[in-house]
Amino acid sequence: MSIHNRPSRAVEISAWRVRRPLGADAVARRDRGGLGASSIAVACGREYPGSVTSPPRAAGRSPELAPELVRLIRRLPKAELHLHLEGSVQPELALALARRRGVALPGVEDGLDGVRRAYARPYKTFREFVRLYVAISSCLQEPEDFCEVTVALARALAEQHVRYAEVTFTPMTHVTRGVPAEIITHGLAEGRERARALYGVQLAWVFDIVRCFADQAAPTLELALQERERGVIGLGFAGPEEPRWPYAPFAEVFAEARAEGLHALPHAGEGGGPESIRGALTVLGAERIGHGVRCLEDPELVALLRARRVPLEVCPSSNVATGVVPDLASHPLPRLLAAGLEVSLASDDPPMFSTTLTDEYLRCAAAFSWSRGQVLALAAAAVEHSFMPEAAKRALLDEQRRVAGGG
Ligand SMILES: [Zn+2]
Repeated sequence: MSIHNRPSRAVEISAWRVRRPLGADAVARRDRGGLGASSIAVACGREYPGSVTSPPRAAGRSPELAPELVRLIRRLPKAELHLHLEGSVQPELALALARRRGVALPGVEDGLDGVRRAYARPYKTFREFVRLYVAISSCLQEPEDFCEVTVALARALAEQHVRYAEVTFTPMTHVTRGVPAEIITHGLAEGRERARALYGVQLAWVFDIVRCFADQAAPTLELALQERERGVIGLGFAGPEEPRWPYAPFAEVFAEARAEGLHALPHAGEGGGPESIRGALTVLGAERIGHGVRCLEDPELVALLRARRVPLEVCPSSNVATGVVPDLASHPLPRLLAAGLEVSLASDDPPMFSTTLTDEYLRCAAAFSWSRGQVLALAAAAVEHSFMPEAAKRALLDEQRRVAGGG
């Protein structure tokens, strides 16, 4: 029987709802209280292989880059395909939201400087990183909060000439801490409208499922289907890539999502190796892979990805910060490109990794001695790999060509 036909679907969603979001005290209490490291890691859907460090910010001002190339990168109209809403909240806004909702943000005892330090300092432990991520998430309680972080993200994107972004958001993380789904979806929809109206930035949503919580898959799909008219284009999939969290329990939900026209956009090959990427392809029907950098460990998998033209969303600074690679110079991006794989650049959780999409281009262009042609090819690839309407894609590619040509 199709999941969609199961009579319990509506009940499953409504069972997650409560009348009101948790009060600030309750949220703060819950954040402080008793969640073990693994629970916290699971709660925000992220797991990293080692400690989390902030990459240096200096690459954007690298002296090796020709000024014309820096200018081109800054001015180029761009698309971004791998970016988390909760991970995009800047320290200033996080502090304002935390004060508004009475949430204890790391570093808040020293005001904005303290919060900035909590963002910028090398994270000594994964727990410290997650504490920040969960605290930011906990600040989002009312529609205006979700709206405000969405608009702020659009402003940051517009400053970089990013015209279109596919933004990952994990609704059940918020629903399970007591925020009604309607509050979330209303805020996101309003924020998305304002992003377009105020900044000309088109946002699409990817609703993410955390692989440790199979019971949240169907409610996430339900919300995603419900919100298709308000910009949801796909289902994401994140969390620890470990055998104890297999893909199989999610096969049916992803099959139904694809049958309904949603795209399958899982993370894989970040913490996990080739088998994880194969699972994302075969079990979930992945149309793009978030990260995927570890595919290089398996030449047959590389050949498969190339033959099927499955794009990878590569986030170099994130990979350095989370210990997937020791430093940018060792990042496999040049080998991914040399292998003929479809690749776009993305920023993942930009302020938490001291980066932006523009910085990713600047840092990589400096680290890998990219030509102007390579930069332009990657910028075009992000548009081609996106799920923008075809006419919008052509318009953005034309705009890129005009800017590249000095128009
Ligand atoms: Zn991600």
